[in-house]
Amino acid sequence: MNAFALDTRVPSDAPVPMSSALLTIDRIDAFYGETQALFGVSLEVGAGEVVALLGPNGAGKTTTLRAILGLTPPSAGTVRFDRREITHAPTHEIARAGIGWVPDDRRIFPTLTVARNLAIARKRSRFRAWSEKECFEIFSALEYLMHRECENLSGGEMQMVAISRALLGSPGLVLFDEPSQGLAPKVVQDVMKTITRLKAEGVSVLVVEQNVQSALAVADRVYVMNLGAIVHEGPAEALRRDDALRLQLLGV
Ligand code: ATP
Repeated sequence: MNAFALDTRVPSDAPVPMSSALLTIDRIDAFYGETQALFGVSLEVGAGEVVALLGPNGAGKTTTLRAILGLTPPSAGTVRFDRREITHAPTHEIARAGIGWVPDDRRIFPTLTVARNLAIARKRSRFRAWSEKECFEIFSALEYLMHRECENLSGGEMQMVAISRALLGSPGLVLFDEPSQGLAPKVVQDVMKTITRLKAEGVSVLVVEQNVQSALAVADRVYVMNLGAIVHEGPAEALRRDDALRLQLLGV
């Protein structure tokens, strides 16, 4: 090679350039016992971006969220959040780093009041801290439910508590697992509006959804999974417009 030619190869001891994404999952595998559920899954969520993770039942969407949260730790690959590797961090540290979670079964303490459920969720991270008052502005009914025990709430009311609980943990990223599941259409609309509001506030969102229409209405980008692997990645706009592509990938 000419001594003056520019060598663009990265020397092996040079630092690998890091992605500017807030969350980067790089080629993760995950298992339940002997059964492999994820096969080399890679995805990114940028700061202030809403990303939808779609696909049929059993595709591996929930497992991907569980891998991010350290609940089903990856056996290979890496998870980075906010420029820090969290692949094998314990779940409570991952939450403290600024990842909020709205699980599909909501996981609210049923015998505690709404106020108590919210109080124990409060955490500080380097991201914006939300107040109860701001949660009341998003969900106006919440203020009047504070002294109710959670087991007496409707599905929609529980979802308000679950989302508020995630916000009180000062998240930079919120993971939503099937947020529209079992909810009335009006409540689904409210949940999707909340996702749009989070984006406006600079909070990133990764949302797993069976309700393709709702997810595409709020997402910037989409990943589609099948059989434990990512089979499509692209702007949500392409799937909103291209009926044939949507039918081929998502069957709707
Ligand atoms: P769904 O919408 O039905 O929840 P999903 O895309 O979220 O689907 P996962 O729940 O991640 O899919 O499941 C991925 C694979 O892992 C499936 O084959 C599922 O049967 C398997 N799986 C999920 N949870 C467990 C578990 N606790 N033990 C064993 N296998 C599991």
